[in-house]
Amino acid sequence: MSPRTARTVPAARLTVRDVTVRFAGLTALDAVSFTVEPGSVHALIGPNGAGKSTCFNVLSGVYRAASGSAEYAGHDLTRLPPHRITALGVARTFQNIVLTEGSVADNLMLGRHRLTRAGFTSAALRLPAAVREQRRHRERAAEIAGFLGLEAYFDQPVGPLPYGVKKRVEIARALCTEPRLLLLDEPVAGMNPTERLAMAATVAAIRDSLGISVLLVEHDMGMVMRLADAVTVLDFGRRIADGSPQAVQQDPDVVRAYLGQEEPA
Ligand code: ADP
Ligand code: MG
Repeated sequence: MSPRTARTVPAARLTVRDVTVRFAGLTALDAVSFTVEPGSVHALIGPNGAGKSTCFNVLSGVYRAASGSAEYAGHDLTRLPPHRITALGVARTFQNIVLTEGSVADNLMLGRHRLTRAGFTSAALRLPAAVREQRRHRERAAEIAGFLGLEAYFDQPVGPLPYGVKKRVEIARALCTEPRLLLLDEPVAGMNPTERLAMAATVAAIRDSLGISVLLVEHDMGMVMRLADAVTVLDFGRRIADGSPQAVQQDPDVVRAYLGQEEPA
C-alpha cells in the first residue's frame, strides 16, 4: 500500500506528561510520563490492571485525566473530544473487538467517514462529485484491506469472520482514518502463534512502510522485544521503567512486577 495518504500529515512526537486518572478512590494512572518518537513502535506493558487501557482511553478522549497533558502536533489530547483527536491523525483499536454490522467494506468506510468532503445530502442524491468521492474512498479502503491481507473478505459480512480476521478489520478501519499515530490495544490477544507472527510483521510494516508511529499494548514479551523501539512499563498505575527493550527486560522492578505470573496478563 502506498504511504501516500488523502491528507498527508507528518508523524509527530507524542509527549505524555504526568497524566493522572482517578476512578472513585482508585488511582488508575499516577503521574505517568513517556514519549513516543515519530515513526517508532513504543510498547506499553505491565501486569493486568496496571492502567494500560486507561492510558489509551485518555489519549483517545474517552476518559478525562485529572491532571497532566499529552502533547501531539501542538495540541493537548487530554483536552480534546474523540473526533478532534481522530482529525489530528490519531487512531486506536480496542482491547475487545468493536465492529459494526455489515461487511468489512462497510466497517472500513466508517473509518473513511471523517475524510468525506461531500455532505450526506449530496451523497444521498448521488450527485456526481459525491459518487466520485465515494468511489475514491472505497478504492482506498480496498487498498488498506489488501495491506492487512483482507482482500478476500472485503465484501463479506464481519459477523461470522474468525476472531483473528476481525482483529485485522479493526486495524484496517483505524488505518482508514489515515492516522500518523496508531494506538493498538493487545492486537494479538487470543491469536494462535501463526497469527501472532503475521500480526507482528503487519505492525512492523505499519511503521516501516507507512511511517506511522505505533503505541502498542502487548503481553507477548517475545513480540515486544522483537518489535518495540522503546518500552514503558506500568504497575498499579505507576511508571516503573522506561527505555530500550533490553534495558527494561533486565530492570529489577520489572522482573519483580512480573514475578509469579505465568504469562503477564
Ligand atoms: P490494564 O489495561 O493495564 O489491564 P486498565 O487500564 O484496564 O488496566 O485498568 C486499570 C485500573 O483502573 C483497574 O484497577 C481497573 O479496574 C480500573 N478501571 C479502568 N476503567 C475503569 C472505569 N471505567 N471505572 C472504574 N475503574 C476502572
Ligand atoms: Mg487493558
